[in-house]
Amino acid sequence: MSPTPTRVRASAPAKTNLVLHVGSPTLDGYHPLETLFVAVDLRETVTAAVNPALARRGVGIRITVEAERGSEYARMVSEGTARLSDVPLDGTNLAVKAALAVCEALDVPMPGLELHVRKAVPVAGGMGGGSADAAAALVAVNHLVARHAGIAPMDTDELLRLGAGLGADVPFMLLGGAAIGRGTGTELESVAAEEQLHFVFVPQDQGLSTPAVYRQWDANHTVTNASTRSAPRTGIAPDPVPTAVLTALADADPDALAARIRNDLQGPAIQLLPELEGLLNHGVELGALAGWVSGSGPTVCFLVRSRDAARRLVLDFVREHRHALAVAGPVPGARVESRE
Ligand code: ATP
Repeated sequence: MSPTPTRVRASAPAKTNLVLHVGSPTLDGYHPLETLFVAVDLRETVTAAVNPALARRGVGIRITVEAERGSEYARMVSEGTARLSDVPLDGTNLAVKAALAVCEALDVPMPGLELHVRKAVPVAGGMGGGSADAAAALVAVNHLVARHAGIAPMDTDELLRLGAGLGADVPFMLLGGAAIGRGTGTELESVAAEEQLHFVFVPQDQGLSTPAVYRQWDANHTVTNASTRSAPRTGIAPDPVPTAVLTALADADPDALAARIRNDLQGPAIQLLPELEGLLNHGVELGALAGWVSGSGPTVCFLVRSRDAARRLVLDFVREHRHALAVAGPVPGARVESRE
């Protein structure tokens, strides 16, 4: 049997949504979605280590965060256009929540955990960076703590269930690849996508709060009755993900896909950050096949025909003093990278 690890490193991908259809909120306040996720090769890394000294001092978890060296996010942090301090270092950090959820589900006492998060995904960008941290932490802590306690780690289904309790995007970050998400996005159906698609992501200096974007969607779907009282419209079901999109994805046909990308949160995101609209048009003028806002934004994504086209578009944006990254997907979901 392999020796008990004291440190496990796991990674999880960022995502974009090629389709994001939104319905009116249900009684519990959640908007039902029909979305098509694609995981991309921009990965967050979480290292979990057992530190008995922490437990002796009564500290359950200590979390530290850094920007991945050499990443675009690290450049944004070093020039002051992004702040690492936007990442909470307390119990609200999704990686901490994930670690606690694992120990509770395994029914083992917290052994004293160090979590170190290496971020490559800009914060509050609509690429699910926090959810990727949660997924990577679920995988790392599951392996570490189960081995430490001498019990079997949880299986993927169990982690998917825990992930759904942490955030709508977390199960997809565990699964990776390409998948339709229903409900709040946690009911997943993997879809075929053998070949890589190429994208350029243009993160913004300013984040957008996901709840604020949904509030804007609500405001756009509010009806005013005769007595001038406003009420949100109810009963709007999200349109299903069209079969033509899935066919284009399965065929890795970027031209067919480009015509069918749609995000219902793009309008609300542009209302909150109007400059996004000019950027979307500009990317297409520079040769992208399509541009859209990623999730709840404000990162803008462009679909291009090849890796070379992605590199060229990145250079065009960099010449204009913007941050831009060439990424490809689909890629695998959260996975263990190393154990020591
Ligand atoms: P989503 O599209 O899933 O809402 P996002 O990519 O727009 O997410 P995140 O980077 O996940 O945004 O961050 C959203 C907020 O979550 C942050 O402003 C921060 O307060 C909080 N947060 C909690 N844990 C983390 C984490 N590990 N990394 C980044 N932000 C986190």
